[in-house]
Amino acid sequence: MSISQAIEKIEARYAHQPEFIQAVKEVAITIAPLYDSHPEYDTFKVFERLVEPDRVIAFRINWENDKGEVQVNRGWRVQFSNALGPYKGGIRFHPTVNQSVLKFLGFEQIFKNALTGLPMGGAKGGSDFDPKGKSDNEIRRFCYAFMRELHPYINKDTDVPAGDIGVGGREISYMFAMYKNLTREYGGVLTGKGVGFGGSLMRTEATGYGAVYFLENMLTAQNEHIAGKRVLISGAGNVSLHAAEKVHMLGGVVVTVSDSQGTLYDEKGLNQEKINWLKEQKAKSQPLADYVAVYGGEWFAGQKPWHIKGDIAIPSATQNEVNEGDAKLMVENGIKYVVEGANMPLTAEAIDHIRLHRVHYAPGKAANAGGVAVSGLEMSQNSVRQYKSFEQIDARLKCIMKNIHDSAAEASGKYHQTDKGYIDYMTGANIVGFERVADALVAYGILN
Ligand code: GLU
Repeated sequence: MSISQAIEKIEARYAHQPEFIQAVKEVAITIAPLYDSHPEYDTFKVFERLVEPDRVIAFRINWENDKGEVQVNRGWRVQFSNALGPYKGGIRFHPTVNQSVLKFLGFEQIFKNALTGLPMGGAKGGSDFDPKGKSDNEIRRFCYAFMRELHPYINKDTDVPAGDIGVGGREISYMFAMYKNLTREYGGVLTGKGVGFGGSLMRTEATGYGAVYFLENMLTAQNEHIAGKRVLISGAGNVSLHAAEKVHMLGGVVVTVSDSQGTLYDEKGLNQEKINWLKEQKAKSQPLADYVAVYGGEWFAGQKPWHIKGDIAIPSATQNEVNEGDAKLMVENGIKYVVEGANMPLTAEAIDHIRLHRVHYAPGKAANAGGVAVSGLEMSQNSVRQYKSFEQIDARLKCIMKNIHDSAAEASGKYHQTDKGYIDYMTGANIVGFERVADALVAYGILN
């Protein structure tokens, strides 16, 4: 069965899962030349196998809110592929979570994790629980209840979840406590744990810092440097604010961050004090707009950052936040580099538009792999029960991001035929990630 036939089958079977189909199509289109030159992939039906998760675990979560009312949410763990290592990927708590979203995230995670070069398979999980406006007690009760349902299916050597949107250090601690309580095991079953009880230094910073390290490599490839460049960032969560911090450390000028209410524009750029203020404000779930009263700048209610002039965009909020119209604005406003801090923040049309205009584009599975990479380092530190310094982890992260950059650029040179002067990171990253997983599947025969 050819790739296009496999896609048709998936489109018919999962017509109700648009995000999943979007993610599958992006990979399919770009790996075609690799696939055609490896007849064994077709023999072993590698693509057809990879687009079906190994299993999807679905469960119900009953918990009690502060009023003593019983609440019911849905939860899932999509164990997509363990070809390269234990299932690995975050847990998301957000009202938009459903099977389509988790399948797209789990599918991308397979290739992202493969790109890190560390032994990790791909998975994703989460719940439609909305943490917004919930008290700390409610969050704790929900996390306990979620882990009570999930714990039989995970283990340090089989499936290792971590955080994602709506799940940070606090939630991981609650879930780890429940897992430990139920199983009596103290190990690396979750990553993103607190430093001091099994967590790795730098895990919190890793996704944002890693995205900026990737960007540095892209700039170097074009004989450019980040110093003095105007950077637009969307989102105001863990990825955005740590990306902002690293850009500032390297001399770039971050002029925007945003949330679901609007965009904050500070022409002078964010410095460490302002970033610390934003981190605290967000931790207290207070409005981003309050910034203007403290530090000046402008608040654009209900708007995204892309109408503002800049050199670099780092969309770090959520999937499909940048549509074709936004991509047109980016090009008009001088954006030359787009680095995805979030997973799949650009729609397929937005990607087509910026690539058509030769904007250098780093897809999330390459650019935001730093988070899961440091999760991989947390797993190995847990296994040997010894911890590395901040500097050691930072050096490993830089090296991993450079390897991802260089291997994607090399594959682009080999397989991207149309425009030799342009590094096609999307094609390159998909090919490198896919090839690693596909070769393992062929070696295994017909078992996954
Ligand atoms: N949720 C993050 C991601 O999208 C991190 C996953 C992990 O550390 O396992 O890659």
